[in-house]
Amino acid sequence: MTDAAPGAAQRIARWQRRAGRHHLPWQGTRDPYRIWLSEIMLQQTQATTVIPYYQRFLEAFPDVHALADAPTDAVMRAWAGLGYYARARNLQRCAQTVRDQHAGRFPRESEALAELPGIGPSTAAAIAAFAFGARRPILDGNVRRVLARYFAVDGDPASGPVSRRLWAHAQALLDAAPAGLDMRAYTQGQMDLGAMICTRHAPDCARCPIADDCQARIQGRQNELPSPRARRARGARDGLMLILECTGRILLHKRPPSGIWGGLWSLPQFDTLAELRAACATHAPQACGPTALAGFDHEFTHFRLRVSPWRLQCDDTPADPAPDEAWVPIAQLDRHGLPAPVARLLAGLYPPPTG
Ligand code: SF4
Repeated sequence: MTDAAPGAAQRIARWQRRAGRHHLPWQGTRDPYRIWLSEIMLQQTQATTVIPYYQRFLEAFPDVHALADAPTDAVMRAWAGLGYYARARNLQRCAQTVRDQHAGRFPRESEALAELPGIGPSTAAAIAAFAFGARRPILDGNVRRVLARYFAVDGDPASGPVSRRLWAHAQALLDAAPAGLDMRAYTQGQMDLGAMICTRHAPDCARCPIADDCQARIQGRQNELPSPRARRARGARDGLMLILECTGRILLHKRPPSGIWGGLWSLPQFDTLAELRAACATHAPQACGPTALAGFDHEFTHFRLRVSPWRLQCDDTPADPAPDEAWVPIAQLDRHGLPAPVARLLAGLYPPPTG
């Protein structure tokens, strides 16, 4: 294993203080609730996308008790559009665990933080560093890329063996640093380096604080590393969605808690046209058949969903909804946590009034 150069961690911390990011809304606080919220939102999502969600979320749920006590629907609604909805479900479970098992206070140790729902070891270490100055290595997606280059580690950084090597390198960098290392600046610096300098497609080695001893730069392999991930075949699935409008109300369906869009309200979805027609007959027996609208694709991480929307408008008194369904007045659709493509589809059919 290539040794970490002495001083690399300090150079990252110094660079962060001089040239890193300092004005993100979750910086400048030591409140573990705010730090935790930002770290969860930043998983798989860029800072610029997160900022408005983070601010709205804090207005709605200013502390761990407000979030733990809130109706789950309100949490999902505030999260809708950020994607990866398992994060939102875990977010509230985590807040409830902190309320019920930790007297409403986040634990200080990263090992205890990592036992909370939705918090992995890297997120736990980042929260402990920012909130309490704890000295633990992090290894999020950006840091994996930086370390794979700095130590010239071949192989898929997400695979088990390579991941273990990268964790060992992350620990070695920290072990080589003096006791007084500024952990907040160092932790933020690693994140900033990955976001601003050692980017996926255009590493800017001329401005990099660890360029002198970066093995990828020395070997001229910056654009080869990290090795591309082994690609899993991405399949496509088809889904039919029903927009059933009765007397100014739309039928929505609450998705089961696990799986895609888990826990969100959405349009009723079917695998076959026969199933969709049967649902129309149940809910609106007097109406004519549904008509097809233009379809669209939505990309998930591992597959593409090809959506075929069908619409049926009728003046019948709607049949009673099932326990996981609701008839929602059109003007109130935006009060429900809808998946982004479904919200766009409905906004195109029922534009909000202007002026
Ligand atoms: S020298 Fe270049 S490749 Fe190496 S860590 Fe810095 S930006 Fe990344």
